[in-house]
Amino acid sequence: MVVMDRKGIIFDIQRFAVHDGPGIRTTVFFKGCSCRCMWCHNPESLSGMPQIEFYPARCIGCGRCFEVCPEKAQIVQDGKHVIDRDRCSGCGRCAAECFSSALVLKGRMIGAEDLMHTILEDRVYYDESHGGVTFSGGEPVLQNEFLAYILESCKKEGVHTVLQTAGNYNFGQLEMLLPYLDFIMYDLKGFSPEIYRFFVRADRQCVFKNLRALAECFQGGLAVRTPCVGGVNDTDEEIEGIARTAGELKNIQYFQLIPYHGLAKVKYEALNEEFAGQCSTPPPERIRELEDLAARYVAVFNQDRGVSRKP
Ligand code: SF4
Ligand code: SF4
Repeated sequence: MVVMDRKGIIFDIQRFAVHDGPGIRTTVFFKGCSCRCMWCHNPESLSGMPQIEFYPARCIGCGRCFEVCPEKAQIVQDGKHVIDRDRCSGCGRCAAECFSSALVLKGRMIGAEDLMHTILEDRVYYDESHGGVTFSGGEPVLQNEFLAYILESCKKEGVHTVLQTAGNYNFGQLEMLLPYLDFIMYDLKGFSPEIYRFFVRADRQCVFKNLRALAECFQGGLAVRTPCVGGVNDTDEEIEGIARTAGELKNIQYFQLIPYHGLAKVKYEALNEEFAGQCSTPPPERIRELEDLAARYVAVFNQDRGVSRKP
């Protein structure tokens, strides 16, 4: 495959990840997403452009960022140091000059060769633990040409590949990646149209249609995952609908509930974005009840208990 511009935009690379697929993994987080889940725990993933996070508690007031910003986006408003987001181009100069790490650039272009170099650095751990690399986000499929090149390179190197995706795109964008993928974790964030319309702001019909099409043609392993958000989708009806859908898929390996946590609040503040305070973490006993309900239809995976077999 020839990709003229072998570059993608990512916002993080986590090494030695153990929750993103089998074994020890490197997880690459792609920037840009086609969903707008109100509970998103990676708000820095949503925009496909670089962004600046500002943590005022770390600021020592040296003023360097005011001096270097070419857009005059570092300003004082009502006596407070803030960033004028309309002016900020995400160039990152302020973050590079900020010695106290009060400014952090989220999002950087990375070349395919550099990314492969990082991925292959931990190959010995993948080999020993049956691990590999996981592509997460954001929505990695939105950068499918770059991702296809990386996946193909991983295949050539014998590195196991996992994709985490939310399914809100044209199926063709995903289809071109399938020959190079070993496992897909597909998110269903709700069952009812209301959840997708009001809380995810994505095309439910497209997401469910893509999942069924994927299950028909994908040769690798498939899991369905649902972030379980108190006050949003933690009802019997939502989880039963999702589990039934997952249980009908040809090559499904398991279904997993991922309890919502509110730890991203600080990141929303650093980006000057609104945090959905009304979401809550379902108690462990409620998660257990919903897992038991789902297990009537599909094998359920729990990080502590492993995979339960369908009764
Ligand atoms: S460069 Fe960093 S420490 Fe200095 S004023 Fe700007 S944000 Fe604060
Ligand atoms: S990222 Fe660039 S434009 Fe934005 S505030 Fe920093 S220096 Fe200014």
